[in-house]
Amino acid sequence: MDLRYWLGRAAEVVERWGERFEPFEPHPSHHVDDADFAAAFERFAKRLEHNYPFFHPRYAGQMVKPPHPAAVVGYLAAMRFNPNNHAYEGGPATSDMERECVAALAAMFALPAHVGHLTSSGTIANLEALYVARQSHPGRAVAYSEQAHYTHRRMCHVLGVRGVAVAADGLGRMDADALEAVLRGGDVGTVVVTAGTTGLGAVDPVHEILPLARRYGARVHVDAAYGGFFALPAADPAQAAALDLDPRPWQAIGGCDSVTVDPHKHGLQPYGCGAVLFADPAIGRHFAHDSPYTYFTDAELHLGEISLECSRAGASAAALWLTLQLLPLTPDGFGAVLAGGRRAALAWADLIRDSPDLTLYQQPELDIVTYLPSGTGPLSLAGTDAAGERVLRAGMSAEDDPVYLSLLRVDAADFTRRHPTALADADGARILRSVLIKPEAEHYLPRLHARVTELARTA
Ligand SMILES: *Cc1c(COP(=O)(O)O)cnc(C)c1O
Repeated sequence: MDLRYWLGRAAEVVERWGERFEPFEPHPSHHVDDADFAAAFERFAKRLEHNYPFFHPRYAGQMVKPPHPAAVVGYLAAMRFNPNNHAYEGGPATSDMERECVAALAAMFALPAHVGHLTSSGTIANLEALYVARQSHPGRAVAYSEQAHYTHRRMCHVLGVRGVAVAADGLGRMDADALEAVLRGGDVGTVVVTAGTTGLGAVDPVHEILPLARRYGARVHVDAAYGGFFALPAADPAQAAALDLDPRPWQAIGGCDSVTVDPHKHGLQPYGCGAVLFADPAIGRHFAHDSPYTYFTDAELHLGEISLECSRAGASAAALWLTLQLLPLTPDGFGAVLAGGRRAALAWADLIRDSPDLTLYQQPELDIVTYLPSGTGPLSLAGTDAAGERVLRAGMSAEDDPVYLSLLRVDAADFTRRHPTALADADGARILRSVLIKPEAEHYLPRLHARVTELARTA
């Protein structure tokens, strides 16, 4: 699709619609001179050059990539109306789109029933899930893996709930036995499982933890902010096998109590698009509040009546809705996007395993590859940390052949568990980490590998 053409069409949508209303006098306070605008825009465009090429497969660092052009056009077209999905009267069209998107996300996880909404972020989605957890099981603790996103600990603090970190296994997944020991203590009301950790892309065994948590009367919240869309390839037996994905954790999500997923990560959306889904529509009661200003137009619950946030961009729902018209949440639709990055991660892990210059930290479970420069001397934590930092800096500052990676800090115990011969001469080390969130990484991989190898050898 030709983005420039469709951006022009997006601008027309609101203009054509606006012609239904009689012309009125624009206020002079808004007026800007064309020449002033042009000059300001030049300064602005220059400022934006101070950026990293998230769009390019040379950028193989954090979980970021630009939105799909359909999302850009959908966002801008709707944003010209500026709907607010807090209340139905804030934007009927985009509120309806949001409900449809939420239903599609719930179907992706095979939730039998649901209530939910989009959020500004995964953090807010998790906050809402933990808020409902606290209201449902007052006075009881929340258990999460020590590898869970840092916001769980923080949000427990915000909510005044005790948080308990559970040990992870040798691949960074929540250890079911360690969890059971915590559950036996009796005061855990909710277990947070992570389907795709932010650091390593490790998938907690949801299918083992769900029955375990139930035996102890605990709720289960799935933080699938990053990994959630992998439910699509995992749902197709042929794709799951070809991509070496264990379908069982993904299949178990439908039996859990709540799920967070971030369309602004794998969902090809701009920032400002998370989602929280609850399996029991009755949890809406925990959000009961009265607003003297809103909720005049719809008999159904308004989105703002089931969320902690007030104003939210209707444009986010519009962007996701338009994207899902073209790339549906099916193994062949969105699943194919995820498959590309996953194949790239598997192929890179194989190349690194065979490389004398790089060492694989652990086998990737999704599309995050973690590795370290092999170096020439004996493997040590301090040496790994320094070499990783050198490779990162050298890659980013090489003007004619840059490559952008990221670092992940791991504890000494986690490191030596995977690499028992390493000298533990520091309490941890930063290893190299590449989130292959763009399916283009698959075709670019030979170049990426060659460049990172060269850096590991010379930096
Ligand atoms: C990214 C992420 C979050 C936080 O989401 P934001 O949208 O960045 O606020 C929470 N949990 C996991 C597993 C994540 O990957």
